[in-house]
Amino acid sequence: MEAFYRRVRAREGWLMDPEDPTKPLGGVWNLDRENRRVPPAGTRFPPPPSFAPDELMREVLDDVERLFPDHPGRLRPFGWPTSRAEALAALDDFVDHRLPAFGPYEDAMVAGERVLHHSQLSVPLNLGLLHPREVVEAVVRAFHEGDGRVPLASAEGFVRQVLGWREFVYHVDRTRGPALEAANALDHDAPVPDAFWTGRTRMACLADAWQGLHERGWNHHIERLMLFGNLALTLGTDPRALTAWFTAHYVDALDWVMVPNVMGMSQYADDGGFTSKPYVSGGAYIDRMSDHCRRCPFEPGRRTGADACPFTVGYWDFVDRHQARFERHPRMAMIVRSWRARPEAERSAVRARAAELREGLP
Ligand SMILES: Cc1cc2nc3c(=O)[nH]c(=O)nc-3n(C[C@H](O)[C@H](O)[C@H](O)COP(=O)(O)OP(=O)(O)OC[C@H]3O[C@@H](n4cnc5c(N)ncnc54)[C@H](O)[C@@H]3O)c2cc1C
Ligand code: SF4
Repeated sequence: MEAFYRRVRAREGWLMDPEDPTKPLGGVWNLDRENRRVPPAGTRFPPPPSFAPDELMREVLDDVERLFPDHPGRLRPFGWPTSRAEALAALDDFVDHRLPAFGPYEDAMVAGERVLHHSQLSVPLNLGLLHPREVVEAVVRAFHEGDGRVPLASAEGFVRQVLGWREFVYHVDRTRGPALEAANALDHDAPVPDAFWTGRTRMACLADAWQGLHERGWNHHIERLMLFGNLALTLGTDPRALTAWFTAHYVDALDWVMVPNVMGMSQYADDGGFTSKPYVSGGAYIDRMSDHCRRCPFEPGRRTGADACPFTVGYWDFVDRHQARFERHPRMAMIVRSWRARPEAERSAVRARAAELREGLP
């Protein structure tokens, strides 16, 4: 992805050094290091725009309600842009109100805050109401013309999402889509956890993200990757069943973007075809990047006992189950070694608790 991103950014001249157009503005290609902050308590987030459904949309909503009464999620209030004019208004609103702080907080999670500074433009982009080029160009223009209002870390962070991830993922699907659809390199076969369907769980982070998903059929990237995806992977969920779950729930779900993201990025079903390591983490990561754990009955740092965080249990059980595969992996080997150094009593307690979690999340 990085090679693709740099090549296309340089070709298009987006955020490049005017003195030397082969070099990125600011001297580095990636400003992610500046972009891993958590908003201080009490931060106010600009509300995203909401578009009242027109008559045709209202008819569609009625039809969906009548034909699929038991499908997951709530239809109303419905606020997604469904026309070209609304899509352009959504783009303007993002650039004016949320782009400046997009970068620093793009990996953060905040309880009860659904959107933070994300753009929610995946919906109009995937519906063909916005072209990815015009979205990137609007952001680059806002950076150059904004008198410093849009920091480079935010502009670069956003361009990386669309030009880097979205466009790259398109080519992953174009070249490897059919193989990816059937992949299951880790031989995972557990069912999708019941709580993903019902929302019934005491896990504060999962319950909050599930609530957001059912309100609008949408979660931001970190909730998808580090909550639902991470937990499913550590519990050994069948990646194809998980793809079906994602497809059933997300309003921006299209095969070409969903399959590489779920099967490849999130579930490592292609044995690391385009990620350098599996996206697994314990509760400590979620504690660092969110305010969820302080409201949760589980302890992010604990891997054994009744109050052990299910993410932490799942993480170490994943390392245990796949230690042979990852013992020489450049980014996983140290973790495998630290797991093997734990007392056997602790390792079997983790295995036993993980087996219970596969039967049902608390
Ligand atoms: C398990 C999983 C499933 C996903 N399924 C989908 C899906 O079905 N449809 C979809 O459009 N995106 C999907 N994504 C990617 C990403 O999470 C969403 O595009 C993003 O959350 C949409 O919200 P946003 O528009 O506010 O994004 P922002 O955070 O504002 O990012 C801007 C844009 O960048 C693009 N983008 C960022 N990351 C990705 C990515 N990994 N792949 C493709 N485009 C990206 C999107 O077009 C997005 O609108 C998935 C990610 C994961 C981890
Ligand atoms: S303790 Fe674990 S389950 Fe609870 S909010 Fe933190 S990460 Fe989520």
